[in-house]
Amino acid sequence: MAEIRKPKIVSSEVRPAIERDPLPKDRIKPHDWISDDLKRRYERRLSEKGFFELYISKTAAEKMINHSKRYGRVRTEALGFMLGDVCSSGRKQFVMVRDIVTGSLLSSAESVRFDRESYAELFSELDSSGFDYVIVGWYHSHPGYGCFMSRIDINTQLSAFHEKYHSAIVIDPLQKEIEAFRLKGRQIISLDFAVYWHDLETPYSSNTIQRYRVVKKK
Ligand SMILES: [Zn+2]
Repeated sequence: MAEIRKPKIVSSEVRPAIERDPLPKDRIKPHDWISDDLKRRYERRLSEKGFFELYISKTAAEKMINHSKRYGRVRTEALGFMLGDVCSSGRKQFVMVRDIVTGSLLSSAESVRFDRESYAELFSELDSSGFDYVIVGWYHSHPGYGCFMSRIDINTQLSAFHEKYHSAIVIDPLQKEIEAFRLKGRQIISLDFAVYWHDLETPYSSNTIQRYRVVKKK
């Protein structure tokens, strides 16, 4: 359960969607932590529609998971914003999450919100993100009690993330579960999403490309 008051210091402008093709099949995969049901839905979506409404970069996904694990160890909730681009290709509309930001949290086992002081910190982090961002949604964690949107979470979505491109990620770092949601009217629905990686990343754990052996020359 998480509460976000809409930040007042952000000025917003309407930015047109970026024209680009959805990611090809060989650059995406389902998140390791989605349930078997969601994996089946992922495969069906891929074969029927060929694209997703939500793509999350491997780096952003790892940061969200690590943040949730860190807070999960002491049974508290993590919370942050997702930054990215709103894209379109013909009639296809989709969002690409490139990174996340977070700040100091007032967090307990069943609620979380940003510390009043942390907005300044948060927005200086946003400034240093190095690209023109759009806040495309938020993530938070439910340590040990599964992925769903509570009444408070839905109210947060209705008040701060009600644009068509907004989504919410819920992570349970203890049961290793993740699920995405968005609004449909005033209802919350589960949303299929894919993880994507850049040319220089591998689809596997980042450790795998950094592990190497030094062989001594004789
Ligand atoms: Zn929640």
